[in-house]
Amino acid sequence: MPIRVLSRDVASQIAAGEVVERPASVVKELVENSIDAGARDVRVETRDGGKKLIRVADDGLGVPADEVEIAFERHSTSKLNSADDLDRITTLGFRGEALASIAAVSHVTFVTRAADESIGVLLRIEGGRIITRQESGRPPGTGVSVENLFFNVPARRKFLRTNRTERRHIDAWLTRYAMAYPQIRFTLAHDDKVTFQSPGSGGLRDVLIAVYNLEIGAALLEITPADAQPAPDIRVTGFVSPPSLHRANRTYITLFVNGRWVQDASLSYAVIQAYHSLIPHGRYPLAVVMVDLPPADVDVNVHPAKSEVRFRDGDVVFRAVQKAVRQTLLQRSPTPVATRTAMAWPTSFDRRREERLDRLSHLESSATGRQLRFEERASDRSDAEESVLAPATDRIPPLRVIGQVGATYVVAEGPAGMYLIDQHAAHERVLFEQLLSQREQARVASQVLLEPQSVELGAEAAGLLEEHLEVLDSLGFQVEPFGGNTMLVRAVPAIVAQASPGNVLEDVAAALDAGDAPLVETLEEKVARHVCKRAAIKAGQVMSRAEMEELIRALEQCENPLTCPHGRPTMIHLTVERLAQEFGR
Ligand code: ADP
Ligand code: MG
Repeated sequence: MPIRVLSRDVASQIAAGEVVERPASVVKELVENSIDAGARDVRVETRDGGKKLIRVADDGLGVPADEVEIAFERHSTSKLNSADDLDRITTLGFRGEALASIAAVSHVTFVTRAADESIGVLLRIEGGRIITRQESGRPPGTGVSVENLFFNVPARRKFLRTNRTERRHIDAWLTRYAMAYPQIRFTLAHDDKVTFQSPGSGGLRDVLIAVYNLEIGAALLEITPADAQPAPDIRVTGFVSPPSLHRANRTYITLFVNGRWVQDASLSYAVIQAYHSLIPHGRYPLAVVMVDLPPADVDVNVHPAKSEVRFRDGDVVFRAVQKAVRQTLLQRSPTPVATRTAMAWPTSFDRRREERLDRLSHLESSATGRQLRFEERASDRSDAEESVLAPATDRIPPLRVIGQVGATYVVAEGPAGMYLIDQHAAHERVLFEQLLSQREQARVASQVLLEPQSVELGAEAAGLLEEHLEVLDSLGFQVEPFGGNTMLVRAVPAIVAQASPGNVLEDVAAALDAGDAPLVETLEEKVARHVCKRAAIKAGQVMSRAEMEELIRALEQCENPLTCPHGRPTMIHLTVERLAQEFGR
């Protein structure tokens, strides 16, 4: 094909694709505009997960009547004049791309009235073309309705997920902005039902109660200003969980830089690192941390939609966050946890450095390996008093099985004392690591059913499975859509061969539906966790000595034998010293 300049329509659709990925991106951009316009009340409504309709209404400054059309031009903004201004950005928007992009791929109705004008303007735009402009009454502020998103981009429309998944992405953005701007009252309604509202009281704790619940909201500790700040112009505020409150993954760490939600592995790790030795290995805090620093010290112009920032001096920011959180924990934590965890968590056996390095080099090529190496690097620059190596993989020593208690726990003895092992949790851990390592080598033990079985599921579940057939495939399933909400199961992972395929598929769908945790685990891991839970031996089941021994031997082989894949402990360790102490010897 000869070289040709793309038509305006095609070019603007391509550009729009960078900004508008899914309904949640529209919500994000419109809400940012409302915040930038100084709104105190922002209402968001959606229909069909935002695919059919997204409406955002605010009581902000509005757009002057003679600027309404310009607002929809590409690269038109009231927030930036020259390239130098990029160093002084204090608004969320500045690229002037959002309205143009959204209008290029949907039907937009924009109604606005500037605070000092007596009547408003209504503009209707379809696929980037202005269809109507008329005067319109409305209180000062702006309301934007976005209908039929991607009506002219079938390829994009095809990639949209179920309504529920799209709603979840929208929920995530709205709660983030509610946290970052507690003085604004946000209301979110899906299909005419209000699902979230922040009070707009100005107090972040009030927002956290609305986002999580009263119990969590009340338990969170407010970050106290660090007294010896590594950098005086970096301010760290927010709330962090006390060490007694933790989660199985790091998705509950929410970070903002200058009022902008960011994903930043290094800053998340700064928070996690502050909990070093305070919470069990493999568990993560819940935290909402705001970092404020001079705009010139951070580059927010990394990508049109991605939530990434670049710091001029990342190390200083890392230390400021780590220190503020650590200090808060040490000052505010209700009880020293070390004494409580000393009993539950084996700290005494060898965490030999070789073992750790071994594991690191062994994992080097995989994604988790990269994460681990990063964590090690990050922990190296922590304060000297904490230069202890981050907890290594706590392999367990060889154990001698003594017996079973309550058909639920295995009692064992090791060189350092007595171990009480939860048979279900331990078995889950064993199956989980086996399944994932089989998957890595692409040889998952799969059991072909004697006769393919058809399983009828709910619409959501069937949709989710259909979206993720390749994930199922990699874990040893052979499943295919069989019309309607029915799936045909030909094979399942061997470990769940005994379970009903219907139950197993429902577990898998639940796993696929259980929210995003992109940083911590892959979808495969998430699904594997649920499958292993179904497959593991239950509490209340009597085990023979041989079975117990087999379980303990397998647990000894595990990389992370101390917790089940869901993060609960697999064992309680009573050290010889502890026993002596309890008996007053
Ligand atoms: P940007 O936010 O990067 O400036 P947008 O395309 O999102 O670019 O918006 C273009 C302009 O339209 C903004 O700079 C602002 O002046 C105006 N605008 C958009 N939404 C609103 C709103 N809700 N209230 C007031 N002005 C708005
Ligand atoms: Mg904008």
